[in-house]
Order: sequence, then C-alpha cells, then structure tokens
Amino acid sequence: STQPSCKTIKTTCAYCGVGCGINATVNTDTREVTVKGNEDHPANFGRLCSKGSSLGETVGLSTRLLDPQINGRQASWDEALDEVAHKFKTIIDKHGPEAVAIYGSGQLLTEDYYVANKLMKGFIGSGNIDTNSRLCMSSAVSGHKRAFGSDTVPNSYEDLEQADLIIITGSNMAWCHPVTFQRIRAARERNPNMKIVVIDPRRTDTCDIADLHLPLASGTDVLLFNGLLKFLVDGQYIDQNYVESYTQGFEEAVAAAQDDCPYLGTIANRCELNEKDLLTFYNWFAETEKTVTAYSQGVNQSSTGTDKVNAILNCHLVTGKIGKIGSGPLSMTGQPNAMGGREVGGLATTLAAHMDFHIEGDADRVARFWKTDRMSKGVGLPAVDLFNAVYDGKVKAVWVIATNPAVSLPNANKVKEALKRCEFLVVSDCVTNTDTLDLAHVKLPAAGWSEKDGMVTNTERCISHQRALFPLAGNSKPDWWIISEVAKRLGFEDAFNYSHQVEIFREHAALSGFENSSDQRLRDFDISLLADISEEQYNNFEPTQWPITKEYPKGKARFFAEGEFYTPNRKANLVALKYKAPANQPSKEFPLVLNTGRLRDQWHTMTRTALAPRLNLHRPEPFVDIHPDDGHKFKLTDGDIAKLSSQWGDMFARVNFTASQAVGDVFVPMHWTQQFANHGRMGTLVNPIVDPFSGQPESKHTPITIAPF
Ligand code: SF4
Repeated sequence: STQPSCKTIKTTCAYCGVGCGINATVNTDTREVTVKGNEDHPANFGRLCSKGSSLGETVGLSTRLLDPQINGRQASWDEALDEVAHKFKTIIDKHGPEAVAIYGSGQLLTEDYYVANKLMKGFIGSGNIDTNSRLCMSSAVSGHKRAFGSDTVPNSYEDLEQADLIIITGSNMAWCHPVTFQRIRAARERNPNMKIVVIDPRRTDTCDIADLHLPLASGTDVLLFNGLLKFLVDGQYIDQNYVESYTQGFEEAVAAAQDDCPYLGTIANRCELNEKDLLTFYNWFAETEKTVTAYSQGVNQSSTGTDKVNAILNCHLVTGKIGKIGSGPLSMTGQPNAMGGREVGGLATTLAAHMDFHIEGDADRVARFWKTDRMSKGVGLPAVDLFNAVYDGKVKAVWVIATNPAVSLPNANKVKEALKRCEFLVVSDCVTNTDTLDLAHVKLPAAGWSEKDGMVTNTERCISHQRALFPLAGNSKPDWWIISEVAKRLGFEDAFNYSHQVEIFREHAALSGFENSSDQRLRDFDISLLADISEEQYNNFEPTQWPITKEYPKGKARFFAEGEFYTPNRKANLVALKYKAPANQPSKEFPLVLNTGRLRDQWHTMTRTALAPRLNLHRPEPFVDIHPDDGHKFKLTDGDIAKLSSQWGDMFARVNFTASQAVGDVFVPMHWTQQFANHGRMGTLVNPIVDPFSGQPESKHTPITIAPF
C-alpha cells in the first residue's frame, strides 16, 4: 500500500483580525488537516484559540457549493460568467454604472479585493463597491484619517506586552481576539506592575484579568474620554513639546472637552460610573508612560463611532503616548483581511493604496496607473445606503461576495426584501446555503479557506501569506479569477488578464508606490519594494508589517513617535468633540437597550464554525442575556424562550438571567441565521442608524422590548 502524502504548510487562520499563523499538516489523499499554531508567526507565536484550532473539522465538502448555478440549475462556468456579464452590461447600458454594485467581505484575500475594487471603480466606473468591513472598523478608518491624515495603525501587538497600562475598551477580547488576550495575560504574569482597565457596559470574560472594570453606560465613550482629556490638561499631564511640535487644534479640543465635562462628578453620573473608579482610571492613564488603548466594535459600531475613536486618539496625542514602545492606540480589526481591504480601497468611500476621492489628483493618479478613462468620479454608497438603494430600485444588480448581508446588516428584514426585489443578484460563496445565497439568480462557487491562496493583513499591519492546502474543490474557483473573467467579458480584457495571483499582488504593490516620490502622504502604505516579487519569493513570503520600502525593507513596527503625520502640514489633528447620545433612545414602548456581539466559539454567520461539533457545544442556540431584575420585571423565566421586538423587527431567543448584564441592557449574539435557527436572526432588530463620517451602523444600541413567548 502507498503511504498517505502528508506535508506541513504554513498558512493563516480563516477567522479574526488577530491573524494567527498556522502550521497545517495535510493529507491530500484524504483531505484531512491538523492544525497547530506557528511558533514563528508574530501574531500568535504558536498560540491558537478554540476557533482556529478547530479549523481541521471545517474542510469537509458536505456543505460546499461546487458548481455554478443559474436560477437553480447547474451551469458551466462559461454560461454563468456570460450570464453575469450580460446582465451587468445590460443594466449599465440602460441605467448607468451607478445602477450596479459589489458588496464584498473582509474574508476576501487582498488579491481578490484588489481586482473587485479595480473592476468597479476603475472600469465599470462606479464607487459602488462596499464591504462588510463597513460594519466592523470603518469608524476606526475615519477616526485615523481625521487625526492622522491617513488610515495608519500606529502601534503593534508587542506594545501590549511592553505596556504598564492596557485599556481594553469596547471589546470582549477574551472571546473576540482570544490570542491577543492570551498574550496580554501572559505578559501580565511576567510584569506584575502591569495594570489592565476594561471599559464595557457588560461584565465579560475579558474582565477576569481587569484591575478595574468600568461598566460605562452604553454609548457614553466620548464623555469618558473628553473627561480624561480635561483631567490631563488640568493636571498638567500633557506632553507640551509633542502637542506644540506635532499637533494642531489643541485649544479647540480642550475647550470642547471643558464644555462637555465640567466636573468629575458630572461625568461619573452621565457615564453611570463610580466616581472613585473613574478617578483611578484617569490617574493611571495620566501617570503611566507606557499605555496602550486597544479598542474594537464597542467603539466603532455607533452613531458616534468616529467621534469615539477621535476621543481616544486625542488623549494619546496630547500625552505623546503614540507610536512608542509600549505606548499607543490600537484599533483591533474584526476580520482576517479587513486591513487588506483598506489597503486596496475596498470601501465605497476610499481609493486603492490609501488614496482618497476627496483629495485632488488621487483618482486621476489611480486612473493613470490602471490606464483607464472610465474611473469613478466619486464615492459610492456605503453598505446601509447601498441596500436601501437596492430596496428602492435604484441599484438594480448586486454581486455579493463572501458575505451574508440578509443576516448581518441592520434592519435585516428590509435587506432581505431588498435582495428579493433586486433585478439581478449574483452571490459568490463557498457554501450551498445562506440566507443571501438562497435569493441569488446566479450562484458562483468560490474557493474556501484551505484552497485559496493569497495575502491577508492583520490588525497590526502585518501582511501574511494564506496558502492553499488542497487543490480547488469541485468546480470552485478563486474569487480573483471569477471577477477577472467577468471583467474580461465586460470588455476589459487587457486590464484583467491575470494568470496567477502573484501578478495581482505585484500590481497592488506597484500602485502603492506609484508617483508618490513628492507626496509624503502616500508613503504610510507603501509596499512598492514587493512590486517585482518573484513567484518563489511570494510563495515563501514571511509575515512583514507595512510599509515595505527601501527605507524599511523589513517593515515598520511603529508610526508617529516623532510626529510626521500624513496631513498637509504633517501635524496630527486634535478633534474638538461634543458628546452626542445614541441616535435612538429607549422609550416606553421599547425600554431596553440591545447590545450585540460575538461568541467565543462562533464566527460571523456560522457557515464554517457550525461544521465543528465542539464549537457548537459552547452556546448551541440564540439567547438573550438579561439582568435578573429586568427578567422579573418583564415576567420572563430563566431558560424559557422570549420574543424580542424593536421598531424594525422581531426575533426569538432563550432567556439567560445574568448579573453580568447591566439593568436596562440586554445582549444577543450576532451569529444565527435562518438556516441555523428559525427567527433567530438578531439583525432583524438592529436600528439602521449610521455614523455620519464612517457610515458604520449603530449595532450596539437599539431600543427593544421583550416578552415571554
Ligand atoms: Fe484564528 Fe483569531 Fe483565534 Fe487567532 S485568535 S486562532 S486568528 S480566530
């Protein structure tokens, strides 16, 4: 008998923005894989969480979409691609390029994302390409740009290990970025002086390592950090030299904070915090040189998400706690390649290589590089507006790639209705059923994790190679190939004539350095040293943080310790902020505030994690966490089913009494879809209000009511 062919391949995890490196031992005969953490990968140094270590259980083919389908019948690739191109072309010819859209995902590899963005913005000529990253970190992008003039994460994971104070705000890191959490826990064991503050309305597992938990009232983050800014100024804790040399807008920002937060007692009251705890937090921040603030969706998913980001950045900037060893703000990205999407301009509001529609010359520069005269003239519709436009019939064709908006977007019933009304819906996915896929006219089988091959960038700007472990399953194809084939059929043969993903990566790298010698602004994301990367170098690429240039051939761990921001005068903007309450307030009819988020053992809409039996054991069905006092008030019984209702929709969930929940707030996990739990989609409840700068929805604050079922 022949020996099974086993080999070990270095790749990255399919799930979160931590971006862990994996050593996958693969048996290509049996399609089996066992995974271990890669000890050399700078994101995890060998660690994996429950989701990552279960990846081997998720590569079976039982739920895979393996052939193209047109209106429910199996089709050849040629037929399906011709149909997509024909329908898109007909609609574009009749209604113009704004009548079509692509809605992508932070699950896409950089090469896939690059090609999708190039097709829509550069050749179809519309800005209508947005992504589920809009729901995830677009407020961080807007906040970074407003403060720094660029979307630059100033620090690295290792700063969390070198800090003496870590503030974790708006993040249940223990569940949502578990390996980063494990790194912090280990660092704290080594450094007994390290203090940890967790800011979250809920008492989550992340609080287990907190020296101080601040259960702030939902949505009051700007007050909390404006109060800190005032405290820093009053106590003369600011870094005068840094403020004068490298920032602007100090007076206005401080005046706005003074206005908002005249007294500590007022802030404590409005944030519903204990005054003594608040003072402890302020003192620790003021007096600890090495301070990192790690923030995530609790900050971003808000009608004031961008302001919340800037409130945090203001405090780091005035104290010079940025871009230094053990010191700086760290936006934790949600998805494995959210950062890669930002690099290629995969948001409706941005251009490739960190360029911007609103900066004169940028769109022309990208058009020159792509050699196109069809470049989109301006921004497209961000996610919530995009599906409203589909609902209203203004956008008539949508191509959804690697995501499930019928579940994950706010006001999900309306989104589902929009997709039903859509004249032409194409969905590329690697599974046979999702709530969105079920409505598609054309289904395109995409390669999934373990087959697709390309680059991803994690939270700390580290580019890693996610490698194929197996040949493509069935007739599935990589997303970059599918998009390029449609582009060719739309008449753009020359611009999309790729035969291997490395060619796309080279082009992406070349664009990042194109015509930027006299424009410092374009150098934060410059990886042009990789523009000539050989196929062998690409295959062997080791994780590297950007930028990657002659000056920084091995990347750069930190930005901004010496200023050099990417604004026109290279100074950071301190932003004057006024606290604004969440857009929809609780009422007599909807008296509770719904907060939503992830579970430890599931990922997004469960298409992959639900395949791993042990991951389903953690929490097997939709539930609602509610304080026992509220439970009794609403006549609920612990363990029974309840109906939750908002102005936008209803869902059902099992009641879980827990004192970890503040009175007046409830929590529901985001994961369940129609497939996995009838009436268990929490997106049906969520208000579709968005942040005015980022377009990110307010997923953490929806007024609801609850009743026994
Ligand atoms: Fe995967 Fe994130 Fe877990 Fe790392 S922390 S193994 S990237 S899910």
